[in-house]
Amino acid sequence: MEHFDIVVIGAGFSGAVMAERFASQMNKTVLVLEQRPHVAGNCYDYRNEAGILVHHYGPHLFHTSKQQVWDYLSQFTQWTPYEHKVLGSVDGKLIPIPFNLNSLAVLYAKEQAEKIEALLISTYGFDTKVPILELRKSAEPLLQELAEFVYQKVFVNYTAKQWGCSPEDISPTVTARVPVVISRDDRYFHDTYQAIPSAGYTSLITKMLSHKNITVKTSVEAKSFIRLEPQSKSVLFAGEVFKGQVVFTGMLDQLFDYVDGELPYRSLQFDFQTLEQSQFQPATTVNYPNEHAFTRITEFKHILKVNSNRTTIVKEYPQGYDRHHESKNVPYYPVFNDENQRKFEVYKKLVKQFPNIISTGRLAEYKYYNMDDAVANALATFEKQVKPNYSNMGKLNVS
Ligand code: UDP
Repeated sequence: MEHFDIVVIGAGFSGAVMAERFASQMNKTVLVLEQRPHVAGNCYDYRNEAGILVHHYGPHLFHTSKQQVWDYLSQFTQWTPYEHKVLGSVDGKLIPIPFNLNSLAVLYAKEQAEKIEALLISTYGFDTKVPILELRKSAEPLLQELAEFVYQKVFVNYTAKQWGCSPEDISPTVTARVPVVISRDDRYFHDTYQAIPSAGYTSLITKMLSHKNITVKTSVEAKSFIRLEPQSKSVLFAGEVFKGQVVFTGMLDQLFDYVDGELPYRSLQFDFQTLEQSQFQPATTVNYPNEHAFTRITEFKHILKVNSNRTTIVKEYPQGYDRHHESKNVPYYPVFNDENQRKFEVYKKLVKQFPNIISTGRLAEYKYYNMDDAVANALATFEKQVKPNYSNMGKLNVS
């Protein structure tokens, strides 16, 4: 019989941070339950038959300006510097995405491009970022025209595929992730730190979980262990009340058996291909807003360089999430808008009634977190919710 102080559900970034903190900072024993056959959540990567490190659940490019996150993760990995670049296929040309002054120069005649550029700089300033939905509000006819062009050619169809709706029907923060950039900086991100874990994300998360106090069980459906007792607001493990801390990083609607309905998510299908050629495309990612059913193609070789005369690419096909359908049941993105936020708040209230459950992460908080946000939030949750309140809680017995 093993005894655990803490049970963490989910072995992605959020679960790994919480497990690591409890183990290393509080000397607690931690059981991590992961439903997939591997750790690392959606960051899971592995070397394929061509020797290329591929991201099984789509491209993950680490970037952060949060010093604390960078310092924290650097305890567990070496980094390979990498600045992400994305091109977009528009009118038969490849332009830098986010749309910037270089994109303008590719698509417009020289004189017109210079006129628009001067206007953009005098209106918003050089080296600034303007979300497309903001640019569309410009009163200046020439900027209105540009906004309409970028909106139609870059955003409308991509967003329709990705989210199943128009840019106005999701939170404006979603399209603002990829603003119009008034500079010639072609990088996708502008954060202080941009790098890939040199041995990959799986290796990084495995290292975080390798503390002697942590036990990881993969291919375990947490719901087969856990039961929530609505009357007493307690958590039962294998029928016994567990008095320790439970960290939940999965979907709250699932945890509560959908009592208040399902929260909407978007899913993806990936089409991986390994090709007998040394390079497929000129950048890591090429977006295809308009001409295909997929949104983008990523070529992994550009991320961590590898000498091979083969290359692996992945095409992403967005789709609705359906928990009953085997090829649609991975919830990649919460669908972030006001209505869904209200639905989520109901579950958030429910989980708060259980004093020994802490919920954190992209799924459990129903937020469009980047990897660094997930790490930052887990670290903050530990500092604010765990450390001050931690009293002697019971242990979980697992035979
Ligand atoms: N987007 C778009 N066209 C593009 C790139 C992004 O319309 O060429 C919009 C789209 O709605 C997308 C959002 O901006 O979902 C955020 O893009 P990001 O690249 O951050 O998405 P992620 O990599 O998280 O899937």
